[in-house]
Amino acid sequence: MPPLRFATCTAGGRSFAALIEEDRAIPLRETPELGPWTGCDVLRDPPLVPVDEAVPLDGLRLLPVVPNPGKIVCLGTNYQAHADEMGRDRPSYPVFFTKFASALVAHGDPIVKPPESDQVDYEAELAVVIGRRGRRIPVGSALEHVAGYTVANDVSMRDFQRRTHQWLQGKAWDRSTALGPYLVTPDEVGDVAALAIRLELNGEEMQSSSTSLLIFDVPTIVSTLSEFCTIEPGDVILTGTPGGVGSKREPPVFLQPGDRVRVEIERVGVLENEVVAEEVEPSRR
Ligand code: MN
Repeated sequence: MPPLRFATCTAGGRSFAALIEEDRAIPLRETPELGPWTGCDVLRDPPLVPVDEAVPLDGLRLLPVVPNPGKIVCLGTNYQAHADEMGRDRPSYPVFFTKFASALVAHGDPIVKPPESDQVDYEAELAVVIGRRGRRIPVGSALEHVAGYTVANDVSMRDFQRRTHQWLQGKAWDRSTALGPYLVTPDEVGDVAALAIRLELNGEEMQSSSTSLLIFDVPTIVSTLSEFCTIEPGDVILTGTPGGVGSKREPPVFLQPGDRVRVEIERVGVLENEVVAEEVEPSRR
């Protein structure tokens, strides 16, 4: 099977899921976005429009690779180096939290820094897109439920994250979590437990690790999550960040308007975004 990359695109006022081939996107028929309708079976044999209806990549904009996931489940403290820098014990069970579709932005979109937070931090992460429904999935067959992988930046407002022992209010700000650019099928990615993961801030390397260092690997995450909830095509799982986050550097580094953040995962892709300040009417503050 040829290597496959998919995206959710918008052009001419309509959105569509597409197969990405070099410099063009070939839309999937009657498929406005990647999500619940684009499970493993659909992506294995995508219903493409005729090739002469392909759209040049420079004539479209990307949306978050899955714009409206039924679930976005994230893992905290899933690399030992990050657990250490945060002063947390190595977890014996995955530390799950969630965020909402309203938090997502695409590759190339601005990451929005709200005026309420002065501690906006980056987190490079491998993201998993689910492609097959399941409940109580054994570890040994968990990867059969994966449609593909993409890149995430789990941008975190540390001042808000620390307000309670739940992290939601630090992790779910509107238009803060970058996801994309592409969904890459497992065949193309190969061994998901051996991928280099890096983050650069304004061209300077801040995080550099490997998915081999995940405390809970992808099969274990999928299996454990599915023990208590049904996973569905289009669900997205962020697998946690390695060490090197800005808030634990000396001195601390937080994202500022104009900063450029680049996350690269070997064989999965490069996700780049600029930070912009959110404009809020003074009366709303
Ligand atoms: Mn994270």
